[in-house]
Parts: sequence; C-alpha cells; structure tokens
Amino acid sequence: MKETNRATQIAQDIYEVKLPLAGSSLKELSSYIIRGKDRSCVIDVGFETEECETILKEALKELEIPIRNTDILLTHSHRDHCGNLPNLYPDAGTIYCSEWDRWQITGEQSDSGKDYLVFSFLKCGIPMALLEGMPKEKDLSSFIPDSKVKTVRDGDFLSYGRYKLKVVDLKGHMPGMIGFFDEEEGILFPGDHVLNRITPNIGFYREENRSLHHYIKNLKKIRNLKTKHVFPAHRGEIRDLAGRVDEILEHHESRLEEIISILSLKPMCAYEVAGKAKWYYKEGNFRAYPVVMKWMATSEILAHLQYLYEKGEAGRSGGVDETYIYYLL
Ligand SMILES: [Zn+2]
Repeated sequence: MKETNRATQIAQDIYEVKLPLAGSSLKELSSYIIRGKDRSCVIDVGFETEECETILKEALKELEIPIRNTDILLTHSHRDHCGNLPNLYPDAGTIYCSEWDRWQITGEQSDSGKDYLVFSFLKCGIPMALLEGMPKEKDLSSFIPDSKVKTVRDGDFLSYGRYKLKVVDLKGHMPGMIGFFDEEEGILFPGDHVLNRITPNIGFYREENRSLHHYIKNLKKIRNLKTKHVFPAHRGEIRDLAGRVDEILEHHESRLEEIISILSLKPMCAYEVAGKAKWYYKEGNFRAYPVVMKWMATSEILAHLQYLYEKGEAGRSGGVDETYIYYLL
C-alpha cells in the first residue's frame, strides 16, 4: 500500500490519517479520507488543536484533494471527532451528521454545556462540589453555521468515487451516533461504536435516550454484516467483528450482573454503585480517579441502572430535581 507522510492508504481510494489527541487517554483518532472523482470526504476530524488541523490539511494536500471539494462526515459530536470543525468548515464542503449532532454542532440544543453537567451530576448523585474539577474545554470552540450542515438519517446514501456509503443508525455511545457502510465493498466505518481493546463509554443523556438499550440493539444489528474491513475511530482495524461484538456484549452482561449484586445490599444512587463496582483504571481505585473519569464511570453505571429499570428488574425513586435511587424488584 502506498504511504505518504501523513496519509496511509488502507484500501482502494481510502486513506487513514492519525490525528494526535493531546491529553487524552485515547492517544489518537483515525480520520479516514475517501477519494472520489469530483467530491471526496473525510470521516471525523480530531481536536481543535493546530496539530490536528495542520496534519489533516497536509494529508489532503499530499493526496492532491482540494479541501473545497471535500465533505466532512461526522460519526458523532465528541470533541475528538468534531473539535476541528471550526478550523475546517470555512474552506470545506458540506458537513453531514445525524440530526442530534446537528443540534450539538450548530448550538441549536447542546448536551455538553454546564446545564447538562449539573443535570447529569444530580441524577448520578455525584457531589456538586466536584463540578469544579471538570475540564473547562468544550466539544467545539465555536458553533458551525447551519447552512454548512446537512442532516442524514439511517438508510440514506452518500457516494464518493467507487464507494456508496449507507448511513447506519448506531445510537448508544452517543444519542446521534451514526456509522457508514458500503455493502458491496464490505467496508464499515463504525466510529466509536465498536473498538478494539476498549469498550466505548455508554453515558446517560436523558431518560428517553435509553443509551444502553440502543447500544446493545445496535451492536447486535452490525454483528453479522458481511465486512472485509472495519475501520473504527480508535485502536486500529477490527479483524473479527462478530467476535469483538460478542466480547462487548459479554462485558455489559457481566456489568449488569455485578450491579444487581451490588444493589442487593441496599438501594443506591449511581455514584454509590460506581464506588463499589470493579474498575481497571488506576488499579481500580475509583476514589483516586480524576473528576472527569468519575463522572464517565458513574454515568455509565447510570445507563446500566436505567437499563435494569426499563426492563422491570429494578425500581427507581427520585423526582425531577432529585438524584435517582435504584433498588431491586
Ligand atoms: Zn466518542
């Protein structure tokens, strides 16, 4: 495969560009460029840093792909996928994303601001004093004009050169998460939906988002797709999609079992359950976690508790302005 300085060819007309994620344990984002005849595209664009901007622009230059003919396909609006948009959109083509992510990146309705964090801390039962320790950076340094963004839905197609990408609804990791699948070529871009070695964080957005329910359903949905290549956003190509899906399903199954056994002690909020659950980061010492990790771990627990609640295996108390307390039924 032909190699240039910034972009590595990984399939016909598809190039991987590794964008460094300074300060993130994810280390880097794999951004994918698909070369078309008149129009090309790039899937996910990295942080807002000068480093990410320069590398991506240099990669396009090396490949002799003009940025004005390049659309941006966004799998979801986490900062490592969308942060770079404000640097790119003035010169680039159209940004395609789900409706939920359009709300986030245009600022129409944002689930990453202070109000959302207060809501999330409250529902999880995380002490509000810890809010101070949350990182101040936002997913986007500035919002994107609505005129640059087009919404795509499950089943829509986007064509670039030899590739006909079908939009696949993959909500779960984030409520607006989408992937792109070329059925004929057997190439899937799942974003963060399925990754090697790490299980994507399943957070809690609003009750109606039912994160874990959707996540599990959408894992099963892609399990048996006929794929030759699966190119996720982090941690390299997935060689055995069904095998990896099964491992992740098993992880959530054992997490649910663990939570049930913790809840058998007494009714608890998500933060209390998280303090008793098994973790791997920092030798599993939850108390020593930086606030952002505590929050991510606890909202993942909340998503599992909600799943048990929706399935009728757990009850829940707590009104609109109160922390949710869960108990076994
Ligand atoms: Zn993500």
